[in-house]
Amino acid sequence: MPINPKKTEMEKQSPEARVKNFDEVAQGYKEADALKEAARCLQCKKPLCVEGCPVNVNIPAFIKLVAEKKYDEAAKKIKETNSLPAVCGRVCPQEEQCELKCIVGKKNEPVGIGRLERFVADAERLSGNIEKNTVKLPGKKIAKVVIAGSGPAGLTCAGDLAMLGYDVTIYESLHATGGVLRYGIPQFRLPKEILDIEIDYLRKLGVKIIANVLVGKTIPIPELFKQGFSAVFIGAGAGLPSFLGVPGENLAGVYSANEYLTRINLMHAYKFPETDTPVRIGSRVAVVGAGNVAMDAARCSLRLGAKEVYIVYRRSEEEMPARKEEIENAKDEGVKLHLLTAPVEVLGDEKTGRVTAMKVIKNQLGEPDASGRRRPVPIPGSEYIIEMDTVVSAIGQSPNPLIPQSMPELKLGRHGNIITNEENGETSVPGVYAGGDIATGAATVIAAMGAGKKAAKGMDAYIRSRMNL
Ligand code: FAD
Ligand code: SF4
Repeated sequence: MPINPKKTEMEKQSPEARVKNFDEVAQGYKEADALKEAARCLQCKKPLCVEGCPVNVNIPAFIKLVAEKKYDEAAKKIKETNSLPAVCGRVCPQEEQCELKCIVGKKNEPVGIGRLERFVADAERLSGNIEKNTVKLPGKKIAKVVIAGSGPAGLTCAGDLAMLGYDVTIYESLHATGGVLRYGIPQFRLPKEILDIEIDYLRKLGVKIIANVLVGKTIPIPELFKQGFSAVFIGAGAGLPSFLGVPGENLAGVYSANEYLTRINLMHAYKFPETDTPVRIGSRVAVVGAGNVAMDAARCSLRLGAKEVYIVYRRSEEEMPARKEEIENAKDEGVKLHLLTAPVEVLGDEKTGRVTAMKVIKNQLGEPDASGRRRPVPIPGSEYIIEMDTVVSAIGQSPNPLIPQSMPELKLGRHGNIITNEENGETSVPGVYAGGDIATGAATVIAAMGAGKKAAKGMDAYIRSRMNL
């Protein structure tokens, strides 16, 4: 039978309906959709999709189990290497990874690997079988290890070390777990109930998670070794926002995307008035930047009642770094793009100290810069004013500096990132490993998970060699 050239569609809430709520936009496959999509996989002998997956999920094997309607088995297969499948199925950029490599994608649309992964994880959750499917681990542990940070890097490292037989403790500085998955990515892309269940799975593997502990401050890393931990993994992320660097950015109504999304997600402004923690935005919002963070801030603004929301981006649509799917979702919802446009000044009301407008300038694209993308060059005299009540700066984040500052012997890169051996996460300090955004700068969930996995192996080898095991 000829292969269906198109991926099986996934239902979504309509743009008109979804801008009025924070419920999940994409609804996931029904069983018939999943079976139809699984039938598109060619079960390649040399599956290139697996090479494209930073955590090496055995993709053809789990898809075969879906085709055989063995959903619990499919979930177990994915969890052999990925303990956060419901998260990855929702937010991973599969189009740049496994699906980019899928052989079906050479002539047709690739197999919808992400959608199938999500289906499998949701099917397991809805069947109530997660508890039953959890691998039973031996009670006797090899050694104690500690993880700083409960984002995807830390969680993955913790899960793998637990499965290798370690007694694992995660210290998280916030009161809630999950890192960006909790405080950055909004409910309508990643419901927190789903995240809770995946984190709970790690607890079932014996991982202890202790919140409100700022490693490097509450407990310095050398102290952790004195407390009997044999190795440390730093997965502290890149939560330090970059600022616009233009006059007026200290006016009331200018937020970093980090603060804005944290208020909305972690502090539950999205549930106001059910909660008493609103965020004030007015009716016109401009978000500067064009990555996933910018799309999330823009789409949250619409849902919080803004009448007009603009993306202000210095290059063209082709260079926008956000996932294509999320750019389309944002446009369908009514987010307007001011492309080839850069902020010059934020303007405000002298009496209230609040933002009233932003002066911007038009750009044209010049020669490629170090990133390979064409450099935006301002066009003299092309300035214009956009009226607004709120500005959100979403132009990037740098690695969290606190742990590096508390441990000067950690070697750092130019951007304050911890330098690691890419193969095993080793840092310049023996027994201290790192990975995810703290090592690479802001990247992706799956890259952070891949780094957590490599570091778990590295820590295991380090501890075993010291214990002569
Ligand atoms: P984080 O997720 O940042 O987690 C670090 C954790 O460490 C945090 O919980 C922090 O509180 C904690 N911590 C920090 N310092 C300490 C300390 N001293 N002691 C103890 N704990 C500490 N990627 C995708 O693949 N797809 C997407 O759609 C996507 N959308 C995104 C949307 C937004 C709004 C943002 C901000 C990012 C998005 N990303 C996306 C990027 C992705 O979320 C990150 O690359 C990923 O979360 C990095 O994981 P991490 O574990 O390294 O760090
Ligand atoms: Fe299936 Fe595509 Fe992977 Fe081949 S490359 S096994 S067709 S998902």
